[in-house]
Amino acid sequence: MNKSNINLKKASDYNIDAPLALLAELSHRCPLQCPYCSNPVQLEKKTGELSTEHWLSVIDQAVDLGMHQIHLSGGEPTVRHDLEDIVKHCTKKGLYTNLITSGVLLNPDRVAKLEKCGLEHVQISFQDTENENADRIGGFKGGHSKKLEVAKWVRDVEIPLTCNCVVHRQNIDNLEDFIKMAIDLDAERVEIAQVQYYGWALKNRAAFIPTPEQLDHATEIVEKARVELKGKLVIDYVIPDYYAKHPKNCMGGWGRRFMNMNPKGDVLPCHAAETISHLKFDNIKERSLKWIWENSEAFNIYRGTDWMPDPCKSCDRKEIDWGGCRCQAMALTGDAKNTDPACQISPLHSEIFQMAAEEARKAPPEFIYRKYNVRFNSPI
Ligand code: SF4
Ligand code: SF4
Repeated sequence: MNKSNINLKKASDYNIDAPLALLAELSHRCPLQCPYCSNPVQLEKKTGELSTEHWLSVIDQAVDLGMHQIHLSGGEPTVRHDLEDIVKHCTKKGLYTNLITSGVLLNPDRVAKLEKCGLEHVQISFQDTENENADRIGGFKGGHSKKLEVAKWVRDVEIPLTCNCVVHRQNIDNLEDFIKMAIDLDAERVEIAQVQYYGWALKNRAAFIPTPEQLDHATEIVEKARVELKGKLVIDYVIPDYYAKHPKNCMGGWGRRFMNMNPKGDVLPCHAAETISHLKFDNIKERSLKWIWENSEAFNIYRGTDWMPDPCKSCDRKEIDWGGCRCQAMALTGDAKNTDPACQISPLHSEIFQMAAEEARKAPPEFIYRKYNVRFNSPI
């Protein structure tokens, strides 16, 4: 990247106010091994994780900066024994607190404790609706049946629940069952998100990408269910970018609404930003959250529209989708500045579409599982 062509400014130069939310990756440790995990391929060790004191300070700084929400994620956030202290501190500071979890390490006591600490929302990830296939995809025996139990404990203490269902060619035929499962679990929302291809998922793309016909069928099911379940269940739906016409408004624009902090305290504009290898991320042990939001080169480099080449530069959607996803442009074109190939105006769009459709028609290869070299034999 030729940085000399880019005039790096500050957040305030782009009329950007406070970020809305912080995605806090408390740990990369996780008992599951999902081959589409959004964590980086190089996972952070436990010894590199921020301390409790650091996280409490991050929460104070997030509130001072004007944030309203924190999403406690990972890896698996419940591996941290200080999770209750973190949630309690968020509550004290008035942050809306959401836990994004696989659920498998929880028990009824801990769910009740988290509720008492002020936890306001739980998202549980599901790999499929059938035990055997779900456990095969997640690489964790007994995981699916445990998740169903955990969802019940969450609702028993009246915490609102979202089911995060990652769909792909190896479970897409169970889409109606995913929606039924969310209703049976008394969830208020189900997120049907097709796999997005970065990091681990990019390594496993051929195992996951659905055919265009499978995708069209899935979209029909979601649209019908949205009408039938209006007022009863919110259904969020994300299609694979490769088959889109317009790219997604990724993160609401680079460095516009969200901050992401990894377990060792690096602050990123999105969870996949480490795949853009030339970016240097500032760390919370060396800089304040406010300084990073305003000044970090990793945030300012793709803020606004100055950095865009054509066709984005002269496109009337450039302040709608902000040129799509930088990480996807990097993964598919080798240059994060390029137009996201998910956009039909990109010269690479039809090539990517064809490549995906052809990959989807071949037999799926074996998974390359996300490996974390720690054994999780017993729930906490
Ligand atoms: S995607 Fe799977 S492996 Fe990755 S953090 Fe979530 S549950 Fe763990
Ligand atoms: S050309 Fe760029 S700004 Fe225009 S729609 Fe495509 S990605 Fe968005």
